[in-house]
Amino acid sequence: MPRGHAVIHDLPLSRPVLDRRADLRTDPGLLPRLLADPGTAVLRLVGDRVRVRDVEGPGLGVWVSPPSDADRSRLAFYLGEAGGTAYVGVVADDLVAEGDGDAALRTLRQVGAELDDVGAATYVTTLALANWHRAHGHCPRCGAPTAPDLGGWIRRCPRDDSEHFPRTDMAVIVAVVDADDRILLARGRGFRARGMSVLAGFVEPGETLVGAVVREVAEEVGVDVRDVTYVGDQPWPFPSSLMLGFTARAVATELRLQEAEIEAARWFSRDELTGALADGSVVVSGRISISRRLIEHWYGRPLDTVDVAPR
Ligand SMILES: [Zn+2]
Repeated sequence: MPRGHAVIHDLPLSRPVLDRRADLRTDPGLLPRLLADPGTAVLRLVGDRVRVRDVEGPGLGVWVSPPSDADRSRLAFYLGEAGGTAYVGVVADDLVAEGDGDAALRTLRQVGAELDDVGAATYVTTLALANWHRAHGHCPRCGAPTAPDLGGWIRRCPRDDSEHFPRTDMAVIVAVVDADDRILLARGRGFRARGMSVLAGFVEPGETLVGAVVREVAEEVGVDVRDVTYVGDQPWPFPSSLMLGFTARAVATELRLQEAEIEAARWFSRDELTGALADGSVVVSGRISISRRLIEHWYGRPLDTVDVAPR
């Protein structure tokens, strides 16, 4: 599948393998027909978890099966096609009460870095849609309860017929590097102890992506940046973000921290980061995160190749 202009190609949650077939969504018979067809692959979301399965080779798949009677009364989304199979995601929170398959249920954070292409694409899309539906049950214009339509891709108000589309909140995340090729890592308030990351923040209304990168870095650490360059992006349905990854060059290195948000920040050479990871004084996010991949892109190799001292 085309990966556009991304420099970082293999982000765990960026798997554009579903042909979404938006042209089919206007057919009101689509979901009833698919949920009566044993050839349909149904992915069931239980809370924020799905059942996973082993696949040939390394990694994990999501567990899909033909539609059940119960699926026909669940909130359902037409996800599209892959390999000639139609995929439907359903919200099956009722399975928690039944205790069905609990042992094999995993969150996306737990398994996202291990999933195969179809597994990641179907899980990410189902979770993002479910998160939006759960939080948007009423019409923002008149307050009436809304109902899903267009294969689960909108909600419609029965009182004023207005259509409401799922939201995706854009967030920029940026690896800032100085003239000596050191990377800037920071610990936000609320991070786990010793956790450090590249800087990130939401894009505000009326703002451009580059404008958001420049503003976030200036606000959080008081550094001016230039040469803001897109390197890749991935959906981040916790609950509804798209993380847009960039690199940028710092004009100067003096840091002025925004104390309400940033607890610590410093520049790291590769040797300094190697040492800090090895002695455990710095911990970076897991392999599912674009933060981790931006740091590795700068570092030159996966960080799990660094020997970390046992603690
Ligand atoms: Zn309304």
